[in-house]
Amino acid sequence: MVENKIKLAIGLGSTCAGCDIAILDLKEKIFDLVALADIVFWPTAMDFKLSELEKFNENEIDISLYHGTVRTSEHEHIAHLLRERSKVMIAFGSCSCFGGIPGLCNVTDREGIFNTVYKETPSTVNPEFVTPKTETVVNKHNLTLPELHNDGKALNQVIDVDYYLPGCPPPVELIEKLLPIIKEFIDTGNLPPKGTVIASEKTLCDECPLEKKGKMISKIIRPHEIIPDPTRCLLEQGILCMGPATRGGCGAMCINALMPCRGCMGPTSEVKDQGAKMIGAIASILGVENEKDFSDEDVEKLMDQIKDPLGTFYRFTLPVALVNKRIKERR
Ligand code: SF4
Repeated sequence: MVENKIKLAIGLGSTCAGCDIAILDLKEKIFDLVALADIVFWPTAMDFKLSELEKFNENEIDISLYHGTVRTSEHEHIAHLLRERSKVMIAFGSCSCFGGIPGLCNVTDREGIFNTVYKETPSTVNPEFVTPKTETVVNKHNLTLPELHNDGKALNQVIDVDYYLPGCPPPVELIEKLLPIIKEFIDTGNLPPKGTVIASEKTLCDECPLEKKGKMISKIIRPHEIIPDPTRCLLEQGILCMGPATRGGCGAMCINALMPCRGCMGPTSEVKDQGAKMIGAIASILGVENEKDFSDEDVEKLMDQIKDPLGTFYRFTLPVALVNKRIKERR
């Protein structure tokens, strides 16, 4: 047992709670965590109230994790509370790091969502167009609670973030890396450089066990359409794999199950826009770089093979992508 245990809080926004389950997946190592840290706020696991979090003084909590997309004013309120009361703030999981899957909501806005959900779906009977009401409680951050924002946001688009631990959900091996960081913090007060991403600095392709032969492809194949060769790069077999544009450190779990990478670890530090990087990788492997050999029609046909390009290339990163601004202007 460590003498000077830290105070640890785990807050959340729009989340499937897979990040909470990932913490529980530490199994017996969770005892190592509770030996280092008193968990002072974790509403998913226990009946913590927001009012208890509000009672902490500034910087009284040592480390806070926040998982989920910032989607409502309440999520934003929790993020501000945690930031004010914590010395260290960690974006935990892909939704918090990049906006995640809930961030795909940015293709529309609140009105569009309400119209679809409460009016337009074939099974909806709602002649008076009744929608959820917003309670007008204005707090010191001038937020109305609770209100569905027009956009989903990554945590660092709302508050200052010190560290990032990506993954959907974060792999247990990476969560385990937090334990020596916490121990070092208790013993010496030292922490990694601000902005550190607790994952690999290489792309998944750099760590992938499958063989790349530099082969070009002429068509895109969806995973259910073939049984892939278990030794060869999935992308070179025509299956869209986000490995070239995605940070490694996940242990290539999906690849080991012969499923293509979906990009949940986000881009590496050198890459600004994960989707743009992947579109470049696809273009080169499809031979689109030699555009003069292709008619416009050929290029269009090739690109048409990619179903749901936005959901494929920006599945986890739309709120932080360059294209997000463009989409917002057009909607
Ligand atoms: Fe592995 Fe996918 Fe990269 Fe191919 S594209 S090497 S399958 S991670």
